[in-house]
Amino acid sequence: MEAFGFQIEVKRTGRKKSASISISGNLVKITVPKSLSDDSVRDLIHLRAPWIKRKFKEQSLKPTSKTKEYVSGEMYLYLGSEYHLKVLNGEEESIKMVGGYLVATIPDFETNRSERVKFLLEGWYQRQADRLLKDKTDRLAKIVGVCPRSVSIKSYKSRWGSCSSNGELTYNWRIILAPHRIVDYVVLHELCHLLEHNHSVRYWAHVERHAPGWRACRDWLRHNQQVLGMGNDRI
Ligand SMILES: [Zn+2]
Repeated sequence: MEAFGFQIEVKRTGRKKSASISISGNLVKITVPKSLSDDSVRDLIHLRAPWIKRKFKEQSLKPTSKTKEYVSGEMYLYLGSEYHLKVLNGEEESIKMVGGYLVATIPDFETNRSERVKFLLEGWYQRQADRLLKDKTDRLAKIVGVCPRSVSIKSYKSRWGSCSSNGELTYNWRIILAPHRIVDYVVLHELCHLLEHNHSVRYWAHVERHAPGWRACRDWLRHNQQVLGMGNDRI
């Protein structure tokens, strides 16, 4: 079964008389008796949503070091996981993810090294964000049954995304520092605005249908916005 906002894996077993729920990383694992209907499973998820929400909140990101200097050894977030930065000397300037490291290569002669690494890192994040957010939007738009006019990314100071009245979606690239389930929520949030261009009860009913865990995701974002660098120009 697929739900949105968080991923759910349902296992049916003949050996159990009652249901059990556990959280493993980004995944909610539910084991239910074989005979339980899909509707009952859905009811169960709704019923346990406050617990799921609390669990996800407990595994919120831990703040990384406050002031980044863009030097080797620092940790940077990508999709909810932390990666070490390695700054190397080399002829050609580049940045890539290699075996769990973010590796920036800077020429010897570069004097303002940390500014240069910051520039490269931001470019890398923006390219990942562009690709990832377009993929997620394509996939989730089919499920919501909408068709955005365009998808782009931007550096917003105080929002995660926006949906214009003519159907253009724009995301803050920083959202890809957050785990997948949170990125999915932001995408679904904007896609549902193509059905309702407001935050009315009707709007939230669309969100609820496609992302039953939306409250936990919204709370998570409020809780972690500083960790994600919102409101400043640091990554
Ligand atoms: Zn909104």
